[in-house]
Amino acid sequence: MFIGHFGTGLAAKKLDKKISLGTLFLAAQFIDLLCPVFLLLGIEHVKIEPGNTAFTPLDFVSYPYTHSFLGVLVWSVLFGFVYFLYKKNIKSSLLLAAIVMSHWILDLITHRPDLPVLPGSDLKVGLGLWNSVILTIIIEGSIFAAGSYLYLSVTKSGSKKGRYGIWALLIFLGVIYFVNIFGSPPPSETAIAIAGLFMWLFVFWGYWIDRNREALIQM
Ligand SMILES: [Zn+2]
Repeated sequence: MFIGHFGTGLAAKKLDKKISLGTLFLAAQFIDLLCPVFLLLGIEHVKIEPGNTAFTPLDFVSYPYTHSFLGVLVWSVLFGFVYFLYKKNIKSSLLLAAIVMSHWILDLITHRPDLPVLPGSDLKVGLGLWNSVILTIIIEGSIFAAGSYLYLSVTKSGSKKGRYGIWALLIFLGVIYFVNIFGSPPPSETAIAIAGLFMWLFVFWGYWIDRNREALIQM
C-alpha cells in the first residue's frame, strides 16, 4: 500500500491536533522510509518480477527488519518512546506508536503472503488485495480520500501557502500513485531504493504544510 498510509497520517490529525502532519506521515510511512536504507545496505531485498501480483511488479524477497510483525512492533514502541522523550505527551506517543503499527495492518491486507511474522521465520502472511488492481484502487483510494477529508475538516489555512501546499501534496501523491500503477516497472533494486528515499520529501512537506495551517478548535 502507498497512498493509503498517507491517508492514515492525514486522518490521525483529527484524533490529535498537537502532532504535526510531518510527524504523522513519518509514523505512517516509517517502515517504508527505513526499507530503502536497508535495501541500499544489502540487508533486505526486493526483486522486480512483472506479474508478481496484478498491482505491483515488486517481489518482496526479504524484508524481516522493516516488515515482519515483530520488527514493526519494535519500531512502533521505539517511535512512541522517542516522541515521548521529546514531547512528554503519553497520549500522542501512544497514538504515534499505533500509527506505525497501522502500516503493517494495511500491508497485511494488501500484500500477497510475503510479510514474515517473525524475522527469519517461514511463516509469512498477506491477504492479497494486490491481486486485484481495481479493488486496490477503490479501497486504498477511499482511505486516502477519507484521510484527506478529515485533515481538511480539522485544519484551516493560515495563508496561501497552507491552502495550496496541502492540495499540491494531495494531487502529487495521487499522480505518483497512478504513474506507479500504469508506468513501466523500475529497472533495478537500487532504483527502487532511491525512489523510496524520495518519499522522505513528503515528511518535510508535511511539516511545512502544518506550519502554514491552523488546527480548528472543536467542541
Ligand atoms: Zn510497507
